[in-house]
Amino acid sequence: MAKDKRRLDLTRPVAVWRSEDLLDGCKAAALTMILRTVGCRWNRCTMCGYASEGAPASAKDLVAQFEQAMQRCSPEVQVVKIYTSGSFLDPQEMPAVARDEILQRLEAMGIKRLVIETRPEYINQDVVEACLSHLDTEFAIGLESSNDLIREHIIHKGFSFQDFVEASEEVHRQGGRVKAYLLLKPPLLSEGEAMRDAMVSAKAARGYAEVLSLNLCNVQRNTQTERLWERGEFRPPWLWSALEILKSVRGTIVCDPVGAGTRRGPHNCGKCDSAVAEAIRAHAIAQDTRVFDELDCECKSTWRDLMDLEEESFGTPLI
Ligand code: SF4
Ligand SMILES: [Zn+2]
Repeated sequence: MAKDKRRLDLTRPVAVWRSEDLLDGCKAAALTMILRTVGCRWNRCTMCGYASEGAPASAKDLVAQFEQAMQRCSPEVQVVKIYTSGSFLDPQEMPAVARDEILQRLEAMGIKRLVIETRPEYINQDVVEACLSHLDTEFAIGLESSNDLIREHIIHKGFSFQDFVEASEEVHRQGGRVKAYLLLKPPLLSEGEAMRDAMVSAKAARGYAEVLSLNLCNVQRNTQTERLWERGEFRPPWLWSALEILKSVRGTIVCDPVGAGTRRGPHNCGKCDSAVAEAIRAHAIAQDTRVFDELDCECKSTWRDLMDLEEESFGTPLI
């Protein structure tokens, strides 16, 4: 009962934590907060379970959540990331009055960089200006794949690569930064197809984003991906696949292997998962693929055999 009440308190953020991040190639202290908004207006992506987290938070509630989260801030924090499980720039989720109050507060605190997430349709000249007039902002967009067919028919993302390009150009025109999220692996793709799609997508997105972020698919609750997984028709990606992508990409690419080693998260055999996940986290800061050099495990050959087998079975995903 007490827990339910706390969960519904709209003046408290969903989560807040401290971590390390990259700021212009150097390690910097970061504060990340997840604010509870009404939720993503699109709410149709096949792997996304964020919809169940939404609640009708007012502009006042959102500022209160932000203030609560900022209690974890300290003078060494240079990067603040504000996530809403949707789009920070959607005025229905984050009313402009709350957005501007938050931006002013961060500017006054001398925060060096703000990172926010948004769908491309909410990016326009005015909102980009509203953010950049206060502080250096990185606009993170869930591109997932550069392939319009995969993004549209498998992920149900509802925007095109060209939409992403135009949003990115608007941000760059005004001197902002873009982060592109890439998804490994959307449902229905075999391990090899998903790995190759992420590599191709990284190349395509590179020219439009300062940073790429590889997201390793987790089985979230109440999603189409979860239904496939329950029927044994989806396996989250192998961590070995993530390593291949990180090794192949030029320029900055980060990855936080959320849920690594669990059944619902990206995993290998169970024995090597924590070592590989740790190396992926180290790579996100060091941007040096040598952190992967010592990694090995018996399951690496199983991963390779599985991909060969999937190729022979006409690309049917095996789990
Ligand atoms: S992945 Fe992003 S755009 Fe898609 S439903 Fe989830 S929050 Fe909305
Ligand atoms: Zn292993």
